[in-house]
Amino acid sequence: MAQKKTKSAKAAKPSQSYDVAVIGSGPGGYVCAIRASQLGLRVALVEGEAQLGGTCLNVGCIPSKALLHASAVYAQRAHWADMGLEGSAARVNLKAMHAYKRANIETNTKGVVYLMRKHKIDVHAGWGKIAAPGEVMVQSQKEKQALRAKHIVIATGSRNRNLPGIKVDEKRVLSSTGALALAQVPKHLLVIGAGIIGLELGSVWARLGAKVSVVEMEERIAPGMDLELARALHKSLVRQGLVFHLGQKVAALKSLGGKGYTARLAAADGTTAKNAKPLSVSHVLVAVGREPMTEGLGLEKLGAAQDKAGRIVIDSGFATNVAGVYAIGDAVAGPMLAHKASEEGAALAERLAGQNSAVNYRTIPSVLYTEPELAWVGQTEEEVKKEGRAYRVGRFPLSANGRARLMGAGDGLVKLVSDAQSDE
Ligand code: FAD
Repeated sequence: MAQKKTKSAKAAKPSQSYDVAVIGSGPGGYVCAIRASQLGLRVALVEGEAQLGGTCLNVGCIPSKALLHASAVYAQRAHWADMGLEGSAARVNLKAMHAYKRANIETNTKGVVYLMRKHKIDVHAGWGKIAAPGEVMVQSQKEKQALRAKHIVIATGSRNRNLPGIKVDEKRVLSSTGALALAQVPKHLLVIGAGIIGLELGSVWARLGAKVSVVEMEERIAPGMDLELARALHKSLVRQGLVFHLGQKVAALKSLGGKGYTARLAAADGTTAKNAKPLSVSHVLVAVGREPMTEGLGLEKLGAAQDKAGRIVIDSGFATNVAGVYAIGDAVAGPMLAHKASEEGAALAERLAGQNSAVNYRTIPSVLYTEPELAWVGQTEEEVKKEGRAYRVGRFPLSANGRARLMGAGDGLVKLVSDAQSDE
């Protein structure tokens, strides 16, 4: 979500004092605020967007899972006849599907509003800037207000990363936000990036009838995930009609005058691609990752350290190098996941209340919500191998599981990687 420019304030309201001021109301920020309040701290939550809930509830997890669920149910019609189900063919009403998505977003964001009220957390609407340690300036459309806080928590999340030379207009060249709001099923969607977001949204539109081509720089899909599982998923997605161009990148996008684009692909090292024929596509989704949202926070002036990727540098207790300023969630290193942000938020609140809580980063689960879903926890086989540990691998194909087979879900496998000595 981009930070909007606000008009300059007429007058500053008198400052209010808190134990904790949290900037950002996503799963990191709102969970941190709730936990701090439960532990008896006086808490303020600052949010610049009109709705609480952050990326996850408004333009991330919830809308994507709504469309993934609806499209998966639609795709199951291929198995109806096998199960003795007959009837007129299902039809996609995209307007109604978006209404279902919006209703789910609203239920969740209203839930956050209720939780803030229940926990007596003061919500301040406006963009927050750290004016000095202990002071947050909140700028809304109407006014400017200073908040005093013993502890300031940055939970400002992330935004879509752009590619140089490719301008996202959310009409034909889309970020994940635009790809969750298309009014029509695209004829041919080109997805740049075969990571979680690219594969999930590519799956949604393929199931709803789009031709979907995916370009990925690496020679595999789902970079960073267990290679064997990623290969199994690759096969399933190809069977579902997705076309992959691996080890390649988009070298140039040429507009077809409002009708779409031709995309010229090149090998990842810039040389001519194997299939040098340009692709004619109606829409392009740029899904090459996300970057921390730290714009306008005043970090430079404050002297808060950021790494090369722009992530705020923290210690094991979520503290930045500026006394009294902490950071969690997508704005810091680690997997960009809602439950990781929430776990950090809760642990930080407990620390601020005097406890010694921490996050065990080795037990954070992840899910790629394709069909089949790819879910994992712990290290991949490649990571274990790299550490030089002796390990064993156990596998069970889902095609040998009766329930999976009867559900038409026999694709894929369960894989266990364990330490050869300790069985960890
Ligand atoms: P965010 O949720 O990004 O919230 C940050 C908030 O801070 C925003 O509301 C923003 O407006 C506000 N803000 C920023 N700067 C300021 C400022 N200066 N002043 C005031 N407010 C400010 N994760 C999962 O675990 N499961 C999923 O299924 C999943 N699906 C996803 C699908 C998509 C399409 C996307 C894009 C992401 C998905 N994620 C998923 C990732 C997940 O959304 C993020 O990891 C999570 O939202 C991070 O939480 P956060 O609290 O750090 O930040």
